[in-house]
Amino acid sequence: MGSITGNYENKPHAVCIPYPAQGHINPMLKLAKLLHHKGFYITFVNSEYNHRRLLKSRGPTALDGLPDFRFATIPDGLPPSDADATQDIPSLCASTTTTCLEPFCELLSELNSSGVPPPVSCIVSDGVMSFTLKAAERFRLPEVLFWTANVSQITNGYLETILDWVPGMKDIRLKDLPSFIRTTDPKDFMINFAIQETDAVPRAKALIINTFDALEHDVLITLSSMFPRIYTVGPLQLMTNHIHDEKLNAISSSLWNEESECIKWLDQKEPQSVVYVNFGSITVVTAQQLTEFAWGLANTKKPFLWIIRPDIMAGESAMLPPEFLTETKDRSMMIGWCPQEQVLNHPAIGGFLTHSGWNSTIESIASGVPVICWPFFAEQQMNCRFSCVEWEIGMEIDNNVKRDDVELLVRELTDGEKGKKMKEKALEWKRKAEEATRPGGSSYLNLDKLIKEVLLQ
Ligand code: UDP
Repeated sequence: MGSITGNYENKPHAVCIPYPAQGHINPMLKLAKLLHHKGFYITFVNSEYNHRRLLKSRGPTALDGLPDFRFATIPDGLPPSDADATQDIPSLCASTTTTCLEPFCELLSELNSSGVPPPVSCIVSDGVMSFTLKAAERFRLPEVLFWTANVSQITNGYLETILDWVPGMKDIRLKDLPSFIRTTDPKDFMINFAIQETDAVPRAKALIINTFDALEHDVLITLSSMFPRIYTVGPLQLMTNHIHDEKLNAISSSLWNEESECIKWLDQKEPQSVVYVNFGSITVVTAQQLTEFAWGLANTKKPFLWIIRPDIMAGESAMLPPEFLTETKDRSMMIGWCPQEQVLNHPAIGGFLTHSGWNSTIESIASGVPVICWPFFAEQQMNCRFSCVEWEIGMEIDNNVKRDDVELLVRELTDGEKGKKMKEKALEWKRKAEEATRPGGSSYLNLDKLIKEVLLQ
């Protein structure tokens, strides 16, 4: 990839601000690295809460960055806490909306007056942090929004009346729509938040999405007719493979400590033999759901790697039946957090039992791994629907999970005809993702266009 040259005082300066949750920080960090690679000076803004957690999980030097890739913080507006857990999403949406504008403006003023970094030239903000648009307007800076979910969610967000059809999406059912807008209560906070954030999109110079054209073709056409300045630059994971700067690559955004010993464990396993189970950073499960998953996995007699986040059960620590632990100890590994992209790219992985978060979905596609979907909230039902029906790489487990269903679907995925077809499809999508991100591919070209047409204007 070509890059802008020159010393850093003369570089364009992008301030990148993710929504303060894991599934938003990860893709924003990748985008920031790509912009840095293209010659930008970067200020990456975390919440104070997450900054502390990153220092705890990654070590005291984790956020030292590089001379021209710096970290800054603003408070998120929630009461201070030493917890090491995902914050309550509606509370965080309410507090960022109402309290973050002034601290963010103060930060922009400081960056512009300190004389050290070059003056701020643009803002790259998460698509659900529309308060940053007010800051951009105040400082007369161009701002682009980065939508970290799939395209479908934003298309849905445009609809104030929910129908049983949605432009650009075939046969979509009401139950597939994002949970935040599946309500009949006009006063519901999250639907109003979703409307407020999608209504703000036209004030941005452009919209960046972590997807690729071939994957969401129809929806992208529809969305482009509503908002033409869309740049699809994903899968970001494959785009960042073009970066060979070790120091930059070493900057990580994991809020939990990654237990890398699972890679050594996977090294011992046969190709495509292991079921990988991970429900991301927000999903919480009940004791009963945990038990059903446990016995379902045990009954398959297959090896599995199960990530059980310390806060996966709201307010309690996760307890697994002792008989289950005894029965599966020779063929299972259970840890609190893992380097997911590395895991998904490991040859031992045969399939992914996922909550269908967008990052997990696109990371699985980038790795050619088929999925079993157990969507939890937000746009995950949509990702599940697309995985199962449009992309044919997935099968769905009912929300009211039963051990027999887990066993049946895992067996189908690993041994059945459908599983074989899903694997072929997953590899086909992986090839398309690679095409999009290699020189001349749609995402590769879109990143250059975004910089030339918007960020450097
Ligand atoms: N992740 C990880 N290790 C884990 C679990 C998750 O690195 O053990 C990463 C995963 O690769 C993804 C993000 O955390 O980038 C989760 O985002 P996603 O959109 O899938 O789900 P969310 O956490 O937002 O529900």
